[in-house]
This record gives sequence, structure tokens and C-alpha cells, in this order.
Amino acid sequence: MIRRVFGWTGVEVPVIGQGTWMIEGSREAERRAIEALCTGLDLGMTHIDTAEMYGSGRAEELVAEAIAGRRHEVFLVSKVLPSNASYKGTIAACERSLKRLGTGWLDLYLLHWPGRYPIAETMRAMEDLVAAGKIRHLGVSNFDLGELQAAERALKRERIACNQVLYHLGDRGIERRLIPYCQSRGIAVVGYSPFGHGDFPSPRSAAGRTLAEVAERHGRTPRQTVLNFLTRQPGVFSIPKSSRSQHTRENSAGAGWSLDPEGLAAIGGAFPAPDHDVPLGML
Ligand code: NAP
Repeated sequence: MIRRVFGWTGVEVPVIGQGTWMIEGSREAERRAIEALCTGLDLGMTHIDTAEMYGSGRAEELVAEAIAGRRHEVFLVSKVLPSNASYKGTIAACERSLKRLGTGWLDLYLLHWPGRYPIAETMRAMEDLVAAGKIRHLGVSNFDLGELQAAERALKRERIACNQVLYHLGDRGIERRLIPYCQSRGIAVVGYSPFGHGDFPSPRSAAGRTLAEVAERHGRTPRQTVLNFLTRQPGVFSIPKSSRSQHTRENSAGAGWSLDPEGLAAIGGAFPAPDHDVPLGML
């Protein structure tokens, strides 16, 4: 899996990582999901995204099983819930995540979405977590441009490393202002739900057919083509979720090659970006 620099941090992170929302379930489903995460790690998909919210902590426990013995390979990301994001609440939530993940540090810790606590309070807690060595970098998720700038202004010692936001073919709003702004500031953009959270373009629709044709011409699958398209810009990453090794293998081949200009134009035309600024989409 090819890597690219994660914004100003200089850390090299795989272009395609692994999401973990909804990986919990029956023991059999969980065993399969852990196996898929391990397959991904073997393929270099070492950016693992989780959150205290996912399965109320269960996803973090499953990640712990997947990364056991290979923590140093992983770029591990978790998130604090806005309802926990007071100063003390953020520190305590991070401690709980570390415990569930069986690790002493996170590579990146994010505020899951803007909430009721003043952003300066949450950012102060995150800066103190960096100082304590509990997290390497801090960032936000689901922050639109103005909210992101407010978070940047609230920081005293650290810088925002990442904004994790919704980005799939049906929701390209971030291409207008958010991606260019993040690129200008060296803030990594991590696009979530690249397959529309299960609402993948049907090959029966005209746009889905275009996607399938472009994919076929490149000798790739539609999902690989989507991941390639979504990560075509520098500083942009994608974190598909898969709970099957076979899916993970397919997704891992979404990077390391380039769509030709005709393919880019065809996908861009079939799934157009908005022609005016739109509020940030969120799941
Ligand atoms: P997604 O990645 O867009 O889609 C996941 C769905 O696609 C699952 O049903 C999965 O099935 C299926 N899939 C994956 N690879 C496939 C393949 N090669 N062939 C066929 N089906 C495939 O959805 P998501 O989970 O919403 O987003 C990804 C990650 O982003 C999350 O897991 C989470 O870590 C993160 N996220 C963050 C936020 C936030 O607010 N920050 C919000 C949403 C998501 P199987 O499970 O059966 O493989």
C-alpha cells in the first residue's frame, strides 16, 4: 500500500486505511472482522480508525485484538464523543480508549463532531494529552471551514493534524473550499464512508454504469476505482470499512495506480461536485 505524508506532521500514512464503525456483532462476525483488519495490516493498510462511540467501546476492544503484537506498525486513531469533550471528560475518555485498545498512546485523537463544550476547552485537553505522551497528534472530525478555523485559533501549542469528513461520490462538497483550505494549512483530510456507508452506486443506474465502465477499462473494480478517485489529491486519505478479508484485499488495490484523464472526467461528470458552496455533509 502506498503511503503519503499526513499533512504537516510529516508522518507517512497509507492512502487507504481501515474504518471500524459497526464491526461488532456475533462472536463469529467479530472474528471475521478481526481477521479482515489483520489482512489489511498485512497489506499495509495500517491506518486504523476507531472511536469510543463505535459499539460503545466494543470496536476499540476488537481493534486491540487485531493489533496485538504489532502496535508499532499501526497509525491508530480514535475519537472523543462531543458529550464527553469537557477538559476533564476528554482526558478521561482518552484514558478509557487507551485501556480498551491495549496501548499507551494514540497516533491521532479527534473530536468526533462539534458539540456543546467550548472548542478551546477540548483543544486544551488534547494539547495536554500530547504533552503527556498519550496522543501524538490531535484533530477534529465533521468540522466545516469556520469551525475548523475556530479550532485552529483555540490551540496554543499544537496544530490541527487532520479533519476527518464525509467524502464519497455522492457528496463531493468538500472539494470546493475545505480540501483546498486544508491543503494550504497542511491539514490532512481523511474522507470517511467512501462507499456511501453501504449506499454504493448501483450498476443499474446511468452513473453506476459509467463507473463500472471506467473501472473495467482500467482493469479495476468499481470500488477500487472509487477509492482511487477519492484519493487523487495530495493530502487526502480514505478509510473504507470492511468486515471481510476478501473486501479488504479488493480495497487495498484502490491506490498505487492512476485513473487516466478520460476516466477522471467521466466519473466527475457522472457524480458531479456541487457548483456552489454547500454545508458539510455528515452521517
Ligand atoms: P463505507 O466504508 O462507505 O462502507 C462500508 C460498507 O461497504 C460495508 O457494508 C462493507 O461491507 C462494504 N464494503 C467494503 N468493502 C467492500 C467491497 N470491497 N465489496 C463490497 N462491499 C464492501 O462506510 P462507513 O463504515 O460508514 O465508513 C468507513 C469508516 O469511516 C467507518 O467505519 C468509520 O471508521 C469512519 N466514519 C467516521 C465518521 C465520523 O463521523 N468521523 C462517520 C462515519 C464513518 P462488509 O462490512 O461486509 O465488508
